[in-house]
Amino acid sequence: MSTLSVQNVTYRYGAKTALDDVSFELEKGRFCALLGPNGAGKSTLFSLLTRLFVTKQGTISVAGHDLAREPRAALAKIGVVFQQQTLDLDMSVVQNLRYFAALQGLSGRAAQRNIDAALDRLSMRERAKEKARSLNGGHRRRMEIARALIHEPEVLLLDEATVGLDTATRQAITQHVHDLADDGLLVFWATHLVDEIQDNDDVVVLHKGRILAHDNARKIARDGTLIDAFMHM
Ligand code: ADP
Ligand code: ADP
Repeated sequence: MSTLSVQNVTYRYGAKTALDDVSFELEKGRFCALLGPNGAGKSTLFSLLTRLFVTKQGTISVAGHDLAREPRAALAKIGVVFQQQTLDLDMSVVQNLRYFAALQGLSGRAAQRNIDAALDRLSMRERAKEKARSLNGGHRRRMEIARALIHEPEVLLLDEATVGLDTATRQAITQHVHDLADDGLLVFWATHLVDEIQDNDDVVVLHKGRILAHDNARKIARDGTLIDAFMHM
């Protein structure tokens, strides 16, 4: 059973079909990109994966748990970094993380252990006591990624995680996230930027609510027609 399995998922906003019979499977330990231009359906898919939206058409399972039948067990295996920043800027890094840990039912030593581990993974331990407001954009993003790891998920979703950051900061964040995949997480990174994708990544190409391709990035890059079509949308 794949770590993330999406089968025949369709989603409509009224008459507008945002996702049309979408199916794919992704494995842990992989950096996977969800590549698609604006309007492709990436946010809609992430909203379904996190159960902000529900659909009766199709099935989604996370780490072997069916999202419709076992929502708690499935959602416990997912960490999310949203496009909009969702930090409390007046709290310190560690206070933000502790608050989130509490929401996840973690307290005391277990919470502290997971918070420290998550901060270490993003090289943010030395900033634990700083106010979120005092952090630059890259460090705020790293803190949000750390927060998404506190409950030890198997799948990490990132929605356009580097929007608004400069090139060097984007590369640093991308490297951290690749390291998380190397450590065994399934990373699923939504982006409309072809240049955020590296050679060995697993790429799901979404266009107008349909899967155009799902393959190794190198093979997708070789498929000139596909990238041309994609770039001119
Ligand atoms: P992406 O995240 O790839 O930019 P979205 O999932 O936001 O794509 O949108 C997919 C399609 O669904 C787009 O055509 C978008 O305009 C449409 N859409 C998104 N949200 C709504 C909504 N609340 N009502 C109607 N149409 C929507
Ligand atoms: P994204 O591409 O990240 O989803 P958008 O700017 O497309 O961001 O959408 C911002 C918000 O507007 C979302 O909540 C989305 O659901 C909603 N939205 C997008 N397209 C439409 C649409 N055609 N009609 C109504 N709401 C929409």
